[in-house]
Amino acid sequence: MSDQPHIQSFQPPHRTLMGPGPSDVHQRVLDAMARPTVGHLDPAFVGMMEELKTLLRYAFQTNNDLTFPVSGPGSVGMETCFVNLVEPGDKVIVCRNGVFGGRMVENVKRCGGVPVLVDDAWGSAVDSGKLEDALKANPDAKVVAFVHAETSTGAQSDAKTLVEIAHRHGCLTIVDAVTSLGGTPLKVDEWEVDAIYSGSQKCLSCTPGLSPVSFSARAIETVKNRKTVVQSWFMDLNLVLGYWSAATKRTYHHTAPINALYGLHESLVMLQNEGLENSWNRHAHNYQALKAGFDAMGLKFFVQEDQRLPQLNAICIPEGIDDAEVRRRLLQDYNLEIGVGLGDMAGKIWRLGLMGYSSRPENVLLALRALDEVLTDMKAPIQSGRAVVAANGFYDAK
Ligand SMILES: *Cc1c(COP(=O)(O)O)cnc(C)c1O
Repeated sequence: MSDQPHIQSFQPPHRTLMGPGPSDVHQRVLDAMARPTVGHLDPAFVGMMEELKTLLRYAFQTNNDLTFPVSGPGSVGMETCFVNLVEPGDKVIVCRNGVFGGRMVENVKRCGGVPVLVDDAWGSAVDSGKLEDALKANPDAKVVAFVHAETSTGAQSDAKTLVEIAHRHGCLTIVDAVTSLGGTPLKVDEWEVDAIYSGSQKCLSCTPGLSPVSFSARAIETVKNRKTVVQSWFMDLNLVLGYWSAATKRTYHHTAPINALYGLHESLVMLQNEGLENSWNRHAHNYQALKAGFDAMGLKFFVQEDQRLPQLNAICIPEGIDDAEVRRRLLQDYNLEIGVGLGDMAGKIWRLGLMGYSSRPENVLLALRALDEVLTDMKAPIQSGRAVVAANGFYDAK
């Protein structure tokens, strides 16, 4: 062991995070996570968990009793919805218009379900007419699943209408709200969503690794009446319930990520203090400023205007520009991270997140200035020197 390297503490650089998540984490959230660790059955911690559920119900706009953060990233929230609601042989209609819809299909298959695909082009919203047709052609379908905010492309679908159509055909709904929660209007009770999952690191601006979920009474009934046992022990809601339900009867299921939950609690307190609608409006406002800048620069958005997500902006990379080189310079010279295109969109788009605490004027202005300078230096066909002026003009006019 004599050549064992002596490793020092890790000191991460200070970046501005404007990719598809994680977003910038406020110092208040980081400070909350550094508070003393207590036992996960400590009455003080149990009280905090109860507050966390109340705060999440506000963020989701629901009175659903079963609303809590799954101990795992958004992908685990996704799996929790599918493993509990889909039994072998169940037909599930999956609307797919990007990467995350594709992952839903993968989940259905692994649960032994039968996926029926409603495909839309990447960058487009889910077409409600196509969903209606698929439900007419598959009267035995049990569940409809779709992504509210497709982070791989920046397209937003009309969740309210899609849920309404699914219910008219007697189906339960699973909705991916990983990128929408806190950033764009989402009303779980008013829209009657049955099962929904999100993530801590997008518009909630907490650290990654937690997945808020919420289940309607109808969804819980379905889980309780399953013919087969849920194949995942960890994600079986029947068992998790004993831990997250009534505070008086808490029993050990798994050790909660205590300090991470302090962070989520703090980020939700911040959301409550700002006000949910104010948060939605802030996301829309900073998107408008970013758009003013990109329009002035001559860079094109990938998604048509009425389907765009304010918190995730897919921008077409100008012809002949080296994607990786631009991102390397942004990181090295500006400490700025933006997102790459996934799958077929690799090298064709950049994804600029304005999520949660990242959605603020200084980030908009930094991204526009940095891209303007780097692209000008690389002789890209853009209108140099106009973007920041245009964004400032937008802010000043408001
Ligand atoms: C980020 C994301 C996920 C996955 O979340 P992880 O925390 O990375 O597991 C799922 N769906 C959508 C729409 C996302 O943006």
